This record gives sequence, C-alpha cells and structure tokens, in this order.
Amino acid sequence: MFDNEEIDIPCPECGHEISKTVDWVKTNDELSCKRCGSVIELENERHLLIIEHVTQSITKLRRSLAKSRKDARGTRRPR
Ligand SMILES: [Zn+2]
Repeated sequence: MFDNEEIDIPCPECGHEISKTVDWVKTNDELSCKRCGSVIELENERHLLIIEHVTQSITKLRRSLAKSRKDARGTRRPR
C-alpha cells in the first residue's frame, strides 16, 4: 500500500538523509550512506521506519482534513 512511497532514512553518523522507497527498505538489509560511506543496518530499524512513515502519512491526512473543515466553516456567512 505504501510500497512506492519514499522514506528518508537519516544516517546515524553524519545525519545525511537517504531517500529510499518502502519496497526497497523491505527487501534490503543494509544501506550505505552516500556522504560518509557508513553502513546502516536496516534489519532492526525497518519496522520503525515503516511505522514512522505510515504515522506521518496519517498525520498529513488528518491535517488536510482539518484544514478543509476549517475552510468550509470560513465560507459560511456570519449572521
Ligand atoms: Zn553518513
């Protein structure tokens, strides 16, 4: 469902964020940082990254819903 969406994985060594798709993260165990070259083990972090990504998507969805509700209220004429 989120397989084609990109996750930003921060490098624990230099903080550089590497964008990978959810599908890529699911099928790979290691990721090497392009900036400092350190290897990030994904095995233990995979679930956390995916959970975090899903949570962020839900937060964004909630925000856009709240915004559209607020906009709808704003168009109402005051008495
Ligand atoms: Zn790095």
